[in-house]
Amino acid sequence: MSYSPNPSRYDSMEYRRCGNSGLMLPAVSLGLWHNFGDIDPIENCRAILRRAFDAGITHFDLANNYGQPAGSAEENFGRILHSDFRDHRDELVISSKAGWRMWPGPYGDWGSKKYLVSSLDQSLKRMKLDYVDIFYHHRPDPTTPLEETMAALDLIVRQGKALYVGISSYLPAETRKAAAILKQLGTPCLIHQPKYNMFDRWIEDGLLEAVEEEGMGCIPFSPLAQGLLTDKYLKGIPEFSRAARHLGNGAMEENAVTETSIAKAARLNELAKQRGQTLAQMALAWVIKDPRITSVLIGASRPEQIDDSLKCLSNYRFADDELRQINQILA
Ligand code: NDP
Repeated sequence: MSYSPNPSRYDSMEYRRCGNSGLMLPAVSLGLWHNFGDIDPIENCRAILRRAFDAGITHFDLANNYGQPAGSAEENFGRILHSDFRDHRDELVISSKAGWRMWPGPYGDWGSKKYLVSSLDQSLKRMKLDYVDIFYHHRPDPTTPLEETMAALDLIVRQGKALYVGISSYLPAETRKAAAILKQLGTPCLIHQPKYNMFDRWIEDGLLEAVEEEGMGCIPFSPLAQGLLTDKYLKGIPEFSRAARHLGNGAMEENAVTETSIAKAARLNELAKQRGQTLAQMALAWVIKDPRITSVLIGASRPEQIDDSLKCLSNYRFADDELRQINQILA
Protein backbone atom coordinates (compact mmCIF):
# COMPACT_ATOMS: atom_id res chain seq x y z
CA MET A 1 0.00 0.00 0.00
CA SER A 2 1.37 3.43 -0.87
CA TYR A 3 2.43 5.60 2.03
CA SER A 4 1.55 9.20 2.83
CA PRO A 5 3.43 10.43 5.88
CA ASN A 6 1.54 11.98 8.77
CA PRO A 7 1.23 15.72 7.93
CA SER A 8 1.66 16.70 11.59
CA ARG A 9 4.82 14.62 12.04
CA TYR A 10 6.91 17.60 13.11
CA ASP A 11 4.51 18.89 15.77
CA SER A 12 5.35 16.74 18.77
CA MET A 13 9.03 15.85 18.27
CA GLU A 14 11.73 17.88 19.98
CA TYR A 15 14.80 18.70 17.85
CA ARG A 16 18.16 19.44 19.45
CA ARG A 17 21.20 21.12 17.96
CA CYS A 18 24.07 18.71 17.40
CA GLY A 19 27.03 20.24 19.22
CA ASN A 20 28.18 23.49 17.60
CA SER A 21 26.94 22.46 14.16
CA GLY A 22 23.99 23.65 12.11
CA LEU A 23 22.35 20.21 12.22
CA MET A 24 19.30 19.50 14.38
CA LEU A 25 18.56 15.91 15.38
CA PRO A 26 15.36 14.50 16.84
CA ALA A 27 15.65 13.86 20.60
CA VAL A 28 14.88 10.21 19.76
CA SER A 29 16.54 8.53 16.75
CA LEU A 30 16.10 4.99 15.41
CA GLY A 31 18.90 2.47 14.86
CA LEU A 32 18.70 -0.54 12.51
CA TRP A 33 21.32 -2.83 14.08
CA HIS A 34 18.78 -5.61 14.67
CA ASN A 35 15.27 -6.34 13.30
CA PHE A 36 16.03 -5.05 9.75
CA GLY A 37 18.05 -7.91 8.28
CA ASP A 38 17.07 -10.61 5.79
CA ILE A 39 16.01 -12.83 8.72
CA ASP A 40 13.34 -10.25 9.67
CA PRO A 41 9.98 -9.77 7.90
CA ILE A 42 10.29 -6.81 5.51
CA GLU A 43 6.72 -5.66 6.20
CA ASN A 44 7.60 -5.27 9.89
CA CYS A 45 10.71 -3.26 8.94
CA ARG A 46 8.54 -1.02 6.78
CA ALA A 47 5.93 -0.58 9.52
CA ILE A 48 8.58 0.41 12.09
CA LEU A 49 10.18 2.95 9.74
CA ARG A 50 6.83 4.47 8.79
CA ARG A 51 5.77 4.72 12.44
CA ALA A 52 9.04 6.41 13.32
CA PHE A 53 8.90 8.95 10.48
CA ASP A 54 5.23 9.67 11.21
CA ALA A 55 6.25 10.62 14.75
CA GLY A 56 8.97 13.05 13.65
CA ILE A 57 11.97 10.68 13.87
CA THR A 58 14.11 12.04 11.05
CA HIS A 59 17.34 10.23 11.88
CA PHE A 60 18.00 6.59 10.97
CA ASP A 61 21.31 5.04 12.04
CA LEU A 62 22.98 2.19 10.14
CA ALA A 63 26.39 0.56 9.73
CA ASN A 64 28.04 -1.65 7.14
CA ASN A 65 27.59 -4.75 9.31
CA TYR A 66 23.98 -4.29 10.53
CA GLY A 67 21.41 -7.02 9.92
CA GLN A 68 21.82 -10.72 9.35
CA PRO A 69 23.62 -11.38 7.10
CA ALA A 70 25.85 -8.33 7.57
CA GLY A 71 24.89 -5.61 5.10
CA SER A 72 21.28 -6.70 4.78
CA ALA A 73 19.96 -3.90 7.03
CA GLU A 74 21.40 -1.32 4.61
CA GLU A 75 19.91 -3.21 1.64
CA ASN A 76 16.47 -3.45 3.22
CA PHE A 77 16.59 0.15 4.39
CA GLY A 78 17.54 1.23 0.85
CA ARG A 79 14.63 -0.76 -0.57
CA ILE A 80 12.11 0.87 1.78
CA LEU A 81 13.70 4.30 1.40
CA HIS A 82 13.19 4.19 -2.35
CA SER A 83 9.67 2.74 -2.21
CA ASP A 84 8.24 4.73 0.72
CA PHE A 85 10.45 7.74 1.43
CA ARG A 86 11.58 8.61 -2.11
CA ASP A 87 10.14 12.13 -1.90
CA HIS A 88 11.50 12.71 1.60
CA ARG A 89 15.27 12.15 1.31
CA ASP A 90 15.95 15.77 2.25
CA GLU A 91 13.92 15.35 5.44
CA LEU A 92 16.17 12.52 6.61
CA VAL A 93 19.52 12.22 8.32
CA ILE A 94 20.97 8.81 7.39
CA SER A 95 24.17 7.57 8.98
CA SER A 96 26.48 4.64 8.39
CA LYS A 97 29.74 3.42 9.90
CA ALA A 98 32.74 1.19 9.38
CA GLY A 99 35.21 -0.12 11.93
CA TRP A 100 34.23 -3.74 12.68
CA ARG A 101 35.04 -6.79 10.55
CA MET A 102 33.04 -6.65 7.31
CA TRP A 103 34.93 -8.77 4.77
CA PRO A 104 37.88 -11.18 4.94
CA GLY A 105 41.50 -10.15 4.65
CA PRO A 106 43.48 -7.18 5.95
CA TYR A 107 41.30 -4.47 4.32
CA GLY A 108 37.90 -5.37 5.80
CA ASP A 109 38.26 -4.25 9.42
CA TRP A 110 39.49 -1.50 11.80
CA GLY A 111 40.49 2.01 10.62
CA SER A 112 42.72 2.23 7.55
CA LYS A 113 41.85 4.66 4.77
CA LYS A 114 41.67 1.63 2.45
CA TYR A 115 38.92 0.04 4.57
CA LEU A 116 36.85 3.15 5.37
CA VAL A 117 36.68 4.49 1.83
CA SER A 118 35.76 1.17 0.21
CA SER A 119 33.30 0.29 2.97
CA LEU A 120 31.38 3.52 2.52
CA ASP A 121 31.28 2.92 -1.26
CA GLN A 122 29.71 -0.48 -0.53
CA SER A 123 27.20 1.04 1.92
CA LEU A 124 26.13 3.67 -0.62
CA LYS A 125 25.55 0.93 -3.21
CA ARG A 126 23.52 -1.17 -0.76
CA MET A 127 21.32 1.80 0.18
CA LYS A 128 21.31 3.16 -3.41
CA LEU A 129 22.33 6.59 -2.12
CA ASP A 130 24.72 9.23 -3.45
CA TYR A 131 25.77 10.27 0.03
CA VAL A 132 25.10 9.62 3.72
CA ASP A 133 24.53 12.49 6.09
CA ILE A 134 26.89 11.19 8.78
CA PHE A 135 29.71 8.67 8.42
CA TYR A 136 31.33 7.27 11.56
CA HIS A 137 34.48 5.46 12.45
CA HIS A 138 32.80 2.68 14.44
CA ARG A 139 35.47 1.93 17.07
CA PRO A 140 39.00 3.07 17.91
CA ASP A 141 41.80 1.21 16.10
CA PRO A 142 44.84 0.69 18.34
CA THR A 143 47.30 0.21 15.46
CA THR A 144 46.34 2.53 12.60
CA PRO A 145 47.59 6.10 13.19
CA LEU A 146 44.65 8.25 14.21
CA GLU A 147 45.84 10.80 11.62
CA GLU A 148 45.15 8.26 8.84
CA THR A 149 41.67 7.37 10.08
CA MET A 150 40.69 11.02 10.48
CA ALA A 151 42.17 11.86 7.07
CA ALA A 152 39.93 9.15 5.61
CA LEU A 153 36.87 10.79 7.19
CA ASP A 154 37.97 14.19 5.85
CA LEU A 155 38.50 12.71 2.37
CA ILE A 156 35.05 11.13 2.35
CA VAL A 157 33.46 14.51 3.08
CA ARG A 158 35.53 16.21 0.38
CA GLN A 159 34.46 13.49 -2.07
CA GLY A 160 30.84 14.36 -1.30
CA LYS A 161 30.08 10.88 0.04
CA ALA A 162 29.18 12.16 3.53
CA LEU A 163 28.12 15.57 4.82
CA TYR A 164 29.40 15.13 8.38
CA VAL A 165 31.61 12.71 10.27
CA GLY A 166 31.53 11.14 13.71
CA ILE A 167 33.30 8.68 15.98
CA SER A 168 31.94 5.87 18.10
CA SER A 169 33.15 4.36 21.38
CA TYR A 170 36.29 6.52 21.48
CA LEU A 171 37.61 7.15 25.02
CA PRO A 172 37.84 10.76 26.27
CA ALA A 173 41.54 11.26 25.37
CA GLU A 174 41.07 9.63 21.93
CA THR A 175 38.03 11.83 21.37
CA ARG A 176 39.96 15.02 22.08
CA LYS A 177 42.82 13.93 19.82
CA ALA A 178 40.46 12.95 16.98
CA ALA A 179 38.63 16.28 17.33
CA ALA A 180 41.90 18.23 17.13
CA ILE A 181 43.05 16.40 13.98
CA LEU A 182 39.71 16.82 12.26
CA LYS A 183 39.58 20.51 13.17
CA GLN A 184 42.99 21.01 11.62
CA LEU A 185 41.84 19.22 8.46
CA GLY A 186 38.80 21.51 8.24
CA THR A 187 36.16 18.83 8.80
CA PRO A 188 34.90 19.22 12.38
CA CYS A 189 33.80 16.12 14.26
CA LEU A 190 30.01 16.40 14.39
CA ILE A 191 29.11 13.74 16.92
CA HIS A 192 30.17 10.94 19.24
CA GLN A 193 28.17 7.70 19.51
CA PRO A 194 28.90 5.92 22.82
CA LYS A 195 27.06 3.21 24.73
CA TYR A 196 25.17 4.80 27.65
CA ASN A 197 22.35 3.59 29.84
CA MET A 198 21.49 3.29 33.54
CA PHE A 199 23.52 0.06 33.75
CA ASP A 200 26.57 1.39 31.88
CA ARG A 201 27.58 4.92 32.88
CA TRP A 202 31.18 5.06 31.63
CA ILE A 203 30.65 8.30 29.68
CA GLU A 204 30.08 10.19 32.93
CA ASP A 205 33.79 9.70 33.62
CA GLY A 206 35.21 12.35 31.27
CA LEU A 207 33.55 11.68 27.92
CA LEU A 208 30.56 14.01 28.36
CA GLU A 209 32.94 16.81 29.35
CA ALA A 210 35.17 16.11 26.33
CA VAL A 211 32.25 16.10 23.93
CA GLU A 212 30.89 19.37 25.30
CA GLU A 213 34.25 21.11 25.27
CA GLU A 214 34.97 19.96 21.70
CA GLY A 215 31.56 21.19 20.53
CA MET A 216 30.35 17.76 19.44
CA GLY A 217 26.91 16.25 19.77
CA CYS A 218 26.36 12.98 21.63
CA ILE A 219 23.99 10.17 20.61
CA PRO A 220 24.06 7.25 23.07
CA PHE A 221 23.33 3.74 21.79
CA SER A 222 21.60 0.85 23.61
CA PRO A 223 19.84 3.22 26.04
CA LEU A 224 17.54 0.37 27.10
CA ALA A 225 20.51 -1.98 27.59
CA GLN A 226 19.08 -3.95 24.63
CA GLY A 227 15.76 -4.43 26.46
CA LEU A 228 16.98 -5.13 30.01
CA LEU A 229 15.78 -1.67 31.04
CA THR A 230 12.18 -2.45 30.10
CA ASP A 231 9.58 -4.57 31.85
CA LYS A 232 9.93 -7.41 29.31
CA TYR A 233 12.33 -9.64 31.26
CA LEU A 234 10.78 -9.16 34.72
CA LYS A 235 8.91 -12.47 34.49
CA GLY A 236 11.39 -14.52 32.46
CA ILE A 237 12.65 -14.47 28.89
CA PRO A 238 9.84 -14.06 26.32
CA GLU A 239 10.06 -16.24 23.21
CA PHE A 240 10.57 -13.46 20.65
CA SER A 241 12.80 -11.20 22.72
CA ARG A 242 16.34 -10.29 21.67
CA ALA A 243 17.80 -12.44 24.46
CA ALA A 244 15.96 -15.51 23.13
CA ARG A 245 16.94 -15.05 19.48
CA HIS A 246 20.70 -15.82 19.70
CA LEU A 247 21.51 -13.19 17.09
CA GLY A 248 25.26 -13.00 17.72
CA ASN A 249 27.20 -9.93 16.54
CA GLY A 250 27.10 -8.32 20.01
CA ALA A 251 23.39 -8.87 20.64
CA MET A 252 22.48 -9.74 24.23
CA GLU A 253 22.19 -13.42 25.10
CA GLU A 254 20.09 -15.16 27.74
CA ASN A 255 22.97 -15.04 30.21
CA ALA A 256 22.70 -11.21 30.29
CA VAL A 257 19.36 -11.60 32.05
CA THR A 258 20.86 -12.10 35.50
CA GLU A 259 19.13 -12.13 38.86
CA THR A 260 20.94 -8.91 39.81
CA SER A 261 19.93 -6.99 36.68
CA ILE A 262 16.33 -8.17 36.97
CA ALA A 263 16.17 -7.23 40.67
CA LYS A 264 17.39 -3.74 39.77
CA ALA A 265 15.01 -3.47 36.81
CA ALA A 266 12.09 -4.51 39.07
CA ARG A 267 12.88 -1.73 41.56
CA LEU A 268 13.36 0.81 38.75
CA ASN A 269 10.04 -0.35 37.32
CA GLU A 270 8.29 0.57 40.61
CA LEU A 271 9.84 4.03 40.51
CA ALA A 272 8.81 4.45 36.85
CA LYS A 273 5.22 3.59 37.81
CA GLN A 274 5.28 6.30 40.49
CA ARG A 275 6.37 8.75 37.76
CA GLY A 276 3.51 7.54 35.54
CA GLN A 277 5.96 6.01 33.03
CA THR A 278 6.91 2.58 31.76
CA LEU A 279 10.44 1.51 32.66
CA ALA A 280 11.48 1.96 29.01
CA GLN A 281 10.20 5.56 29.06
CA MET A 282 11.97 6.33 32.33
CA ALA A 283 15.25 4.78 31.14
CA LEU A 284 15.18 6.93 27.98
CA ALA A 285 14.11 10.04 29.91
CA TRP A 286 17.04 9.49 32.26
CA VAL A 287 19.43 9.62 29.26
CA ILE A 288 17.96 12.71 27.58
CA LYS A 289 17.64 14.72 30.80
CA ASP A 290 21.24 15.84 30.21
CA PRO A 291 21.38 18.75 27.71
CA ARG A 292 24.74 17.44 26.41
CA ILE A 293 22.83 14.50 24.93
CA THR A 294 21.65 15.46 21.44
CA SER A 295 19.55 12.39 20.76
CA VAL A 296 18.94 8.96 22.24
CA LEU A 297 19.39 6.11 19.75
CA ILE A 298 16.78 3.42 20.28
CA GLY A 299 16.12 0.08 18.64
CA ALA A 300 12.68 -1.44 18.10
CA SER A 301 11.35 -4.82 17.06
CA ARG A 302 7.74 -3.64 16.61
CA PRO A 303 6.05 -0.31 15.73
CA GLU A 304 4.29 -0.26 19.13
CA GLN A 305 7.69 -0.02 20.86
CA ILE A 306 8.28 3.27 19.02
CA ASP A 307 4.99 4.65 20.38
CA ASP A 308 5.84 3.51 23.89
CA SER A 309 9.43 4.77 23.87
CA LEU A 310 8.57 8.18 22.42
CA LYS A 311 6.43 8.97 25.46
CA CYS A 312 9.72 9.56 27.32
CA LEU A 313 9.57 13.05 25.83
CA SER A 314 6.53 13.99 27.91
CA ASN A 315 8.55 13.86 31.14
CA TYR A 316 12.32 13.84 31.33
CA ARG A 317 12.63 15.97 34.45
CA PHE A 318 13.74 14.16 37.59
CA ALA A 319 13.44 15.42 41.17
CA ASP A 320 16.68 15.22 43.17
CA ASP A 321 15.09 12.58 45.34
CA GLU A 322 14.22 10.44 42.30
CA LEU A 323 17.82 10.66 41.07
CA ARG A 324 19.03 9.66 44.52
CA GLN A 325 16.72 6.64 44.53
CA ILE A 326 17.92 5.64 41.05
CA ASN A 327 21.56 5.90 42.12
CA GLN A 328 20.81 3.76 45.18
CA ILE A 329 19.13 1.08 43.08
CA LEU A 330 21.99 1.04 40.57
CA ALA A 331 24.75 1.05 43.20
P1 NDP B 1 18.01 -0.43 22.86
O1 NDP B 1 18.79 -0.48 24.12
O2 NDP B 1 16.98 0.64 22.68
O3 NDP B 1 17.34 -1.87 22.66
C1 NDP B 1 16.37 -2.09 21.68
C2 NDP B 1 15.57 -3.34 21.99
O4 NDP B 1 14.86 -3.18 23.23
C3 NDP B 1 14.50 -3.60 20.96
O5 NDP B 1 14.98 -4.32 19.86
C4 NDP B 1 13.48 -4.37 21.76
O6 NDP B 1 13.94 -5.70 21.95
C5 NDP B 1 13.54 -3.68 23.10
N1 NDP B 1 12.61 -2.54 23.20
C6 NDP B 1 12.68 -1.35 22.55
N2 NDP B 1 11.70 -0.52 22.93
C7 NDP B 1 10.98 -1.19 23.85
C8 NDP B 1 9.85 -0.85 24.63
N3 NDP B 1 9.29 0.36 24.52
N4 NDP B 1 9.36 -1.77 25.49
C9 NDP B 1 9.94 -3.00 25.62
N5 NDP B 1 11.03 -3.38 24.89
C10 NDP B 1 11.55 -2.48 24.03
O7 NDP B 1 18.98 -0.21 21.64
P2 NDP B 1 19.87 -1.18 20.69
O8 NDP B 1 20.76 -2.02 21.50
O9 NDP B 1 18.95 -1.83 19.71
O10 NDP B 1 20.73 -0.09 19.95
C11 NDP B 1 20.08 0.98 19.27
C12 NDP B 1 20.89 1.42 18.09
O11 NDP B 1 22.16 1.91 18.53
C13 NDP B 1 21.27 0.32 17.10
O12 NDP B 1 20.21 0.00 16.23
C14 NDP B 1 22.42 0.96 16.39
O13 NDP B 1 21.94 1.90 15.46
C15 NDP B 1 23.13 1.68 17.52
N6 NDP B 1 24.24 0.88 18.07
C16 NDP B 1 25.52 1.35 17.86
C17 NDP B 1 26.61 0.65 18.31
C18 NDP B 1 27.96 1.22 18.07
O14 NDP B 1 28.95 0.51 18.30
N7 NDP B 1 28.07 2.45 17.64
C19 NDP B 1 26.46 -0.64 19.02
C20 NDP B 1 25.09 -1.02 19.25
C21 NDP B 1 24.03 -0.27 18.79
P3 NDP B 1 13.13 -7.02 21.54
O15 NDP B 1 13.74 -7.44 20.26
O16 NDP B 1 13.43 -7.94 22.66
O17 NDP B 1 11.68 -6.65 21.43
